[in-house]
Amino acid sequence: MDRVRIPFPHVSGADVAGEVIHTPNGEFGPGHRVMVQPGLSCARCAACLDGRDNECASYDVLGYRSDGGYAEIVKVPVQNLVAIPDSIGFVEAAAFPLVFLTAWHMLITRAGLRAGEDVLVLGAGSGVGQAAIQIAARHGARVFATAGTDAKLAKARQLGAYEVINHTSEDVPAKVRSFTNGRGVDVVFEHVGIATWERSLKSLARGGRLVTCGATTGHDVALDLRVLFTRQVSLLGSYMGRKAELLKAAQFFFAGELRPVVDRTFPLADAAEAQRCLEAREQFGKIVLVV
Ligand SMILES: [Zn+2]
Repeated sequence: MDRVRIPFPHVSGADVAGEVIHTPNGEFGPGHRVMVQPGLSCARCAACLDGRDNECASYDVLGYRSDGGYAEIVKVPVQNLVAIPDSIGFVEAAAFPLVFLTAWHMLITRAGLRAGEDVLVLGAGSGVGQAAIQIAARHGARVFATAGTDAKLAKARQLGAYEVINHTSEDVPAKVRSFTNGRGVDVVFEHVGIATWERSLKSLARGGRLVTCGATTGHDVALDLRVLFTRQVSLLGSYMGRKAELLKAAQFFFAGELRPVVDRTFPLADAAEAQRCLEAREQFGKIVLVV
């Protein structure tokens, strides 16, 4: 796969919340409080018309190959606006869409998570990790979560993790087996890539599903086909999610049952410092830029 060419000058930022200034046909009045569905699709192809907008051939993410939300004013298609109730603040609304949409599509739609199943969530302190713990726990799954510090593990428990594993000092597959009577988990929630791939496969039960949305530490993983077929493992790729899924997850958000974790906010002018903070993985959850 070729490297993606990011157009320059570039404005990053997939997650946006704020007040509407103008919509072409008055769909939302000025001052209407909204968050933005970050997936951009053509709205005309068979996949889009079938509700699978994240499978659109021209699918893009706001702030990826388009100009995004690191700005005072953002232009998006009107169908990407999602009204938010007055009880939801802009900071938490801006922390919600991309990671909860991604985690929902991975766990519910791709992995078909069922109540009573065991799930291993990697990287509890990441944006998708904290979302996945909450979504899986609220769907009746038993969640095991990994993180690199005790402080992050304590926060993972607060979000609903049943057991936690320190991935820097503990053997993840061995701990998973000790928690599950040697069986392994039904679902592994992956996004880390090469650094964790082998351990993730080893943590799966026979017939288990590994679902992944990322390759932060590298993409060129090895796969022992004998493990794939004898253990009857399913490997599932997942990218973003459908707008309908965001609307569904948002109902839980608006009701207070899913809560995006915001580590801290920075003024928009300090965006570079916010990026450095993310790169150093110091945060638990999301960092939000405020105008
Ligand atoms: Zn389309």
